Amino acid sequence: MEERIYLDHAAAMPVHPGVIRFGRQFLEEFAGNPSTIYQEGLQAQAAVAGAREKVAALVGAKDPPSIIFTSGATESNNIAIRGTALRNAGKGKRVVVSAIEHISVLNPAKDLQKGGFTLTQVPVDHYGVLDLDALGAAVTPRTVVTSVHYANNEIGTIEPIREAAEIVHDRGGYLHVDATDAAGRIPIDVERDGIDLLTLSSNQLGGPAGTGALYIRPGVRVQPVLVGGGQERGLRPGTENVVGIACMGEAARLAGKEMPEEMRRLSAIRDRLITGITGIEDTYLTGHPRERLPHHASFRFPRIEGESIQLAMNMLGIAVATGSACTSMTLEASHVLLAIGLAHDEAHGSMVATLGRGNTLDQVPRVVNAARETVKRLRAITPL
Ligand code: PMP
Repeated sequence: MEERIYLDHAAAMPVHPGVIRFGRQFLEEFAGNPSTIYQEGLQAQAAVAGAREKVAALVGAKDPPSIIFTSGATESNNIAIRGTALRNAGKGKRVVVSAIEHISVLNPAKDLQKGGFTLTQVPVDHYGVLDLDALGAAVTPRTVVTSVHYANNEIGTIEPIREAAEIVHDRGGYLHVDATDAAGRIPIDVERDGIDLLTLSSNQLGGPAGTGALYIRPGVRVQPVLVGGGQERGLRPGTENVVGIACMGEAARLAGKEMPEEMRRLSAIRDRLITGITGIEDTYLTGHPRERLPHHASFRFPRIEGESIQLAMNMLGIAVATGSACTSMTLEASHVLLAIGLAHDEAHGSMVATLGRGNTLDQVPRVVNAARETVKRLRAITPL
């Protein structure tokens, strides 16, 4: 049996071996409840504080308490959008998002409309790059929160965050950035980039799933989405997931340390994949050819269907994505691919390969051959 090749790190990442070692030791040494003041509780407090420092360091946050821990990117996005919009509604009831945000940003933003907020979705070009002129027209002094992701999970395009921040700050608003797919992969600096709120996911850094974080620039007013105790400055009540948080911190530290080398290594594999797969007849890259995440390669194959590609590649021992794992259950055409100008039928035939630690250059020929074989076979039987 040939070894499987896993190319869907955007959906789930294997936990980094260094995090596994750290987590095992952590689990063996009992840590109490961080809200208590005896020794066991203080140990837990110290573990959470240490993780806060490591996560803050990864994204250039000067003040570690500006990081709060959550259950994941979806929760961080909900606090950022809902919590910021509701807390600042006195200033205005306007929210702006890019049209290709993840549904965990789009849906809370749409939900605010029920409470009388106006939502504007800003278009992107055919590479998925935010239209900054349209952003400038959409954001007004009454816009309380604007959300633009650092990079897109379906097409890999990196957004002009610094330019977006300037526009948003010019009009006195807050910029939220969902960095789920970009953090730990490319350098992020909330100071340099002008970010007011930043979403992070533990698993996308190489930590265990079920933990996330939200950076909130000191002074930004946010209200909690869940109410309960005073944990995480009252913004995320509930007893902390101490082991998840500690492991996320270690994952952030390792991701930061290994980033320069992984960027070089993975972008070389990505470029080989792109050259090989776009060499297949009538096959196109989606997303930006240069301004894209180093671990991200995404394609579309006219006249075939994403789920069929995924199943066929799986049979050949290769795990790839089609669209986003989060929306694939609905089988709807991807809103991202529609927003970059593809027709409905074109938006159905996508394949996304996201790389990670386990991938190597010598896997590329097998992946390219499998894609070629799959496309040929599916096109031969397509009714389209
Ligand atoms: N934002 C982005 C950009 C994502 O890609 C994802 C998931 N892949 C999420 C948010 C949601 O993450 P989770 O399902 O872990 O909450």
